[in-house]
Order: sequence, then structure tokens, then C-alpha cells
Amino acid sequence: MSKGRIFSGMQPSGKFHLGNYLGALENWVRLQHDYECIFSIVDLHALTSKYEDTRELPENIHNMALDWLSAGLDPEKNIVFVQSQVKEHAELHLLLSMMTPLSWLERVPTYKDKLQQLGSQGKDINTYGFLGYPVLMTADIILYKADTVPVGEDQIPHLELAREIVRRFNHLYSPVFPEPQAKLSKAPLLPGIDGRKMSKSYGNEIPYAASPDELRARVRLMVTDPQRIKKTDAGNPDVCTVHKFHKIFNLNQIDEISQSCRQAGIGCVDCKKRLAEQMVINLADIHVRRSEYEANPSRVKEILAYGNERARKMAAATMEEVRQAMNL
Ligand code: ADP
Repeated sequence: MSKGRIFSGMQPSGKFHLGNYLGALENWVRLQHDYECIFSIVDLHALTSKYEDTRELPENIHNMALDWLSAGLDPEKNIVFVQSQVKEHAELHLLLSMMTPLSWLERVPTYKDKLQQLGSQGKDINTYGFLGYPVLMTADIILYKADTVPVGEDQIPHLELAREIVRRFNHLYSPVFPEPQAKLSKAPLLPGIDGRKMSKSYGNEIPYAASPDELRARVRLMVTDPQRIKKTDAGNPDVCTVHKFHKIFNLNQIDEISQSCRQAGIGCVDCKKRLAEQMVINLADIHVRRSEYEANPSRVKEILAYGNERARKMAAATMEEVRQAMNL
């Protein structure tokens, strides 16, 4: 029996990496068994911070669909679709924007942070659309009357805002929408090959779509215990990035590898080789599924078209209620 209805989305910004997989997608794959899930490639959200050059968008959307399908998201069981193809997202966003006080948006902590961060990278996001990001996110969720939203810590303020907007709408017009609840995911933060958080903006990522050989090459470049110069030096796994990966991808062998590192038994080169081989094994199913879908791009298109159609039906039904409630 379903525990509730989930909506979640990801921006097709390219360069999907293993951190994104472990931080979000892997969780979705688990959630699909217990919830009724609606997953959206949120291309309109991608425009809120990258609107000047949209040429890569079609390819990024296709690749994101490949990422999801290869992870094992079931496009029959879940609704998997592209946000811009369901125009009701834009319509509800507009209507919600009429009743959302500016001050609610300006006080979202991520707003000023991102503005500063992206501004310093030379991006001009002093735009109406960027400020309205959480309104669009609210529209995404409530269009499907989702009651549960899997989020990381940083998204909690956005969800709180979504609930405030829902309360305002229900109070002003009629109680159309349930208040969505956050489901906090406690995914591990994956480091990049340089030891900092894996992020596409640091260039330290391991691409999720990396082939076995690319995986091996990225693992070879990982930083280890900087104090360990020679193989005969005892290592400290607690400060080693390779070790952090072993903990995630090779938990069965972790004790033996730790001990061996501390006693200078295993060298970093071998330790990396063992990690890489284990990662290749763990990600093998994903690679197989990915190459099947890669060989059949029209199948991926069909899957998205089918998801768009299913999403449209639900969204249209909600918008009927909204228009009625607002006397439109
Ligand atoms: P990036 O830092 O590469 O730009 P995003 O900010 O686009 O990544 O993150 C998209 C999703 O992936 C978010 O849900 C975020 O929590 C998750 N995520 C990103 N990087 C990591 C990481 N290194 N470890 C775990 N989860 C991550």
C-alpha cells in the first residue's frame, strides 16, 4: 500500500555525478516501492539561473532521462516527465505569484546566498524568475497534490514557504491543496576526488555515466593521506578520500583495508585498484541499463511523452479546481 504521494524534481544542468546519484537519485529508487511518485526533469527551473544560452537543454534533458532510467526508476510505476511539457506548471506559478508576498521570497536564506555565489561567477540572476524559484517549486508540488517531498537540509526553507503559500491559497479561496511535508533524506555527502564535497562547480566529480575505464582513471587521481609518502609509511585512513569511498562502495572489506593501511600492508595504488573494481561491480547494472537505453533514443522519447501525458491529466484536473476556486 502506498504511504502517500511524492513529487520531486531535478534540474537538467548537465554533468550529473555520483554525488547527485547518492544524494538524491538512489533515494528515489528506494522510495518508488513505497510511494506513488511523480518525478520531473525541471527544465523551467534550470532557466531561472541559466537563461542566456539554452542550446544544451535538449541534450541535458535526454541525458537526465538516461540517468534516471539507468538507475532503475520505473517509468510505468512512477510518472516521469519534463516540466515544460506540462503547461499547467507555468499557469499555476503565475496564479500563485499573485498572492505570494515579496517579503516571503526575499527572506528565503538560499536566495541571497545563491545571488551572491552566482553573481560572483559573473551570472546576472537579479531576475524576477530567480526570485520566484520557490513559487515555481510550490506549483510543481501542489499541482499533483503531493503530500510528501524528499529534501535535503538546504531545501527545508523552500518547503516551509510552499506550506505558507498553500495555507494562504486555501484561506483566500477554498481548501484545494494539502500541505506538503518534508521527508528529510540523510544521504551521505560524497567527497570529490580532491577531498572537497563532490560538485560540478569544483571539477572534482566522478561522472555518473563514467565507463569502467573512466571510473578507474578518476579513482587513480584521488587524494590519499598526504603524510603517507612511501608505501612503507603507515597510513591514516581517517583522512583519506579513497577510504571514504571504500566506506560507501566496499563496506564488506572496510575493516581489513583499514587495518592493512595502518600497518603499511596495502599501498595506495592497490587500495585504489580494489576500490575501482568494487565500484565497477556495484555500478554494473546501471551501466548495462544505460547502454540499452543509449542504443534506443526513441524509446527514451516515448517514455517521456507517456509521462508528460499522464502528468498533464493530473495537472489539468487540479487546474479545473483552481480556476473554479478563483472564479476564473
Ligand atoms: P552540484 O554541487 O554538483 O552543483 P547540485 O547542487 O546540482 O550539485 O545538487 C543536486 C542534488 O544532488 C541535490 O539534491 C544535492 O543534495 C545532491 N548532491 C550534490 N552533491 C552531492 C554530494 N557531493 N554528495 C551527496 N549529495 C550531493
